[in-house]
Amino acid sequence: MLIFQSLTKTELSDALLPLSEAREERDLARISDDLERKLLLSKIEKKKRKQAEMRAKQLFHWVYQRYVTDYDQMTDIAKDVRSWLKENVRIFRLEETFSKQSDDGTYKFLWKLNDTKTIESVIIPAALKEKIGEEVVEALSDGKRYAGIETDRVGLDRELDSDSWARLTACISSQVGCAMACKFCLTGVQGLDRSLDVHEVVTQVHELRMRAPITNIVFMGMGEPLHNVKNIAKACQILLDEDGMNFSKRKVTVSTSGLVPGIDELYQSTDVSLAISLNASTDEQRSQIMPVNKRWNIDQLLDACRRVPLGGHRRITFEYVMLKDFNDSIEDAHRVARLLKGIPAKVNLIPFNEHPGADFKRPEDETVMRFQRTLLNQGYTTTVRISRGRDILAACGQLRSLFGTARGTEKHRDYGKSAEHA
Ligand code: SAH
Ligand code: SF4
Repeated sequence: MLIFQSLTKTELSDALLPLSEAREERDLARISDDLERKLLLSKIEKKKRKQAEMRAKQLFHWVYQRYVTDYDQMTDIAKDVRSWLKENVRIFRLEETFSKQSDDGTYKFLWKLNDTKTIESVIIPAALKEKIGEEVVEALSDGKRYAGIETDRVGLDRELDSDSWARLTACISSQVGCAMACKFCLTGVQGLDRSLDVHEVVTQVHELRMRAPITNIVFMGMGEPLHNVKNIAKACQILLDEDGMNFSKRKVTVSTSGLVPGIDELYQSTDVSLAISLNASTDEQRSQIMPVNKRWNIDQLLDACRRVPLGGHRRITFEYVMLKDFNDSIEDAHRVARLLKGIPAKVNLIPFNEHPGADFKRPEDETVMRFQRTLLNQGYTTTVRISRGRDILAACGQLRSLFGTARGTEKHRDYGKSAEHA
């Protein structure tokens, strides 16, 4: 049995090809001339392929744009095709075991996978329309693309309505746990259980879109996306399909701790945005908190960033988790500025989210702002992410650990120049 959400449109079309028919097939028996036969065969082949492609398109519309999960409701698909689909292609659903909205509107979801393992996704609302100018709303909201959802989505909540928010970011998991063992990260402490399949990644977004008009996707939930790069690259292709969810490449961001070969591989098959968890200003410092740096150091990582084919005015986001008295000095800020020279970069500072048993502390707000000012003065667009959802124990990995088996809900707030809204 195939799973719908694991298929690209081309793969779905290939699977549907044997079901395609062309009227001309009846004429084949009458034709004996070899050349004529060949020509007709190629015409038939072309027609059948076109029909399969058309059906794959229609199915993508039904599932990803109209949220229909029952083939019987797909009235423009031939009956025999529908019964074949019922037998052979399952439309996957994730079981919601827990969801909670915190006071500020951040929504957290815990999903149960088929093997009873759990993962989490988070919806982070940002840019309350009442508070931002019309111009920004226009720049941010994808009114047209989401027009169809208004009436179709379920679990509708005022707080997650596109009337209220210009941006609703879905934070998605790529693995159950993580193998990278970063010292400051709760998921890292837990270790890797397994990587997620393509359909488990795509369906997180699909399920969230049934509940809210998601505008952006970030792979910043559990796991290291590039440690599962084949599945993540394919999931991105599906997320970007114009007949499906139709996300723009600018609105899908893969965040990595620095798996250099994965960066190159990702860009061989997709063209989404990139975030790098830099988190330190020297190799020595970075190796202390991120074992991956011992294999691929900062130079190698930044070289990989320079190879990324970023068209237009896209920039790479450099995330920097701020750890008190460890990487939060002015000297660190100056070194970061030097490292990033020549790379189209913006910086996102993330004050450490404390969790029980952590060796690190969160710096004072003043320290964070000083660090930000230093980078701003060097010409880098720099934003500070402030943690949210503390009332539901929503720091990285904490929800999942609470349930014995999930990840941070955070919001972006600009203290300085606005990068997030660019
Ligand atoms: N594995 C990927 C994506 C998931 S982590 C990566 O590391 O990039 C997403 C972001 O959360 C990373 O930038 C990571 O450095 C940060 N992070 C992890 N634990 C954190 C914590 N306790 N406080 C603040 N940020 C944290
Ligand atoms: Fe894994 Fe990212 Fe956590 Fe490091 S910060 S352990 S790569 S999830």
